[in-house]
Amino acid sequence: MDELDQQQLHREMTAWRRDLHTHPEFGFEEKRTAAFVAEKLRAFGLEVAEGVGGTGVVGTLTRGSGNRAIALRADMDALRIAEQGTQAWRSRTPGTMHACGHDGHTAMLLGAAKLLASEGGFDGTVRFIFQPAEEWGRGALAMLQDGLIERFPFEEIFGLHNMPGLPIGHFETRSGPVMSAEDNFEIVLKGLGGHAARPHAGRETLVAACALVVNLQTIVSRRLSPADIGVVSVTELITDGTRNALPGLARVLGDCRSFRPQVSAAIEAEMRRIAEGTAQAYNVAAEVTYTREFVPLINDAALVDEALAAARTVLADDAVGVAVEPMTASEDFARFLTEVPGCFVFMGNGNSAPLHNPAYDFNDAGLLHGARFHAAVVRRRLGVG
Ligand SMILES: [Zn+2]
Ligand SMILES: [Zn+2]
Repeated sequence: MDELDQQQLHREMTAWRRDLHTHPEFGFEEKRTAAFVAEKLRAFGLEVAEGVGGTGVVGTLTRGSGNRAIALRADMDALRIAEQGTQAWRSRTPGTMHACGHDGHTAMLLGAAKLLASEGGFDGTVRFIFQPAEEWGRGALAMLQDGLIERFPFEEIFGLHNMPGLPIGHFETRSGPVMSAEDNFEIVLKGLGGHAARPHAGRETLVAACALVVNLQTIVSRRLSPADIGVVSVTELITDGTRNALPGLARVLGDCRSFRPQVSAAIEAEMRRIAEGTAQAYNVAAEVTYTREFVPLINDAALVDEALAAARTVLADDAVGVAVEPMTASEDFARFLTEVPGCFVFMGNGNSAPLHNPAYDFNDAGLLHGARFHAAVVRRRLGVG
């Protein structure tokens, strides 16, 4: 096996990352990105399957005679955000940009594939999973429903996400709950609109909607156990009223986060009760739609230890740490963890703009750390001899 020139690999990954950044694609529309990934994987000598769960790509690399298989995963999709950056590799697709660094994740996993294909150093099978539509929380499920695990079996899975604010070359994770579930809701209040001068003649919905927004604040503060983590955020209040007409219809929309299915269920039940009761108090009707978008991300304790140990083989000891708190953001990687155990890790993106910010850009200084981390996990979990 040839030892790869790491500086050369870093230059290549930087070029790939910037190319992907220039051509961002929204979830399930990652056609160019998927073709880019497939072409590179084939050039490295991997077996490649395209069109898995829409635009997903799976690369397979086997060395030795070991019958164990592990998966490494990256996400490929961009966001509908208009980029404000002025760098030469800024998005050429108006209104779409890689504002979450999935261009970097894809480039690092390609780098790991090249590294492992060239150097080996493991015994078994590695599945390189490039998933579509992470931001929608739909891509992982689409791949699973397309027979991902039956067609490309693996026993455990690892993934990473860049983290603005964490220094370059620093890695963090924790066992158990890491990222939250995301639920969405819409409550429609229906009454009878009418003249602004004659409220008593109708059953207007705006005052009821305001009361409902306030009442929903009691779910977390008064109904959940203080030991549980939950968030209920009302994000929109829309009515069909106008300057001199009271609304007959009001829509209250929002977003909930939690780490346990029991908490998500309790939030929904309380919300339905409060919507019903508030509507009754104001003599209007309520209709509640409650949907579950992301499942909570739960890391396997033993594989967290393994991932941290792998990170310490490529980074200084004090650059690898345990994150103190779970995060109330959500991540589609969680869906894979409902099928096999695994570990999701955060890697530093330095002092960049926040994720999903129009000025964000993935920090290329981290590319080699990510690729080497992926390779180290494989060599640790599929050790030779
Ligand atoms: Zn994102
Ligand atoms: Zn992301």
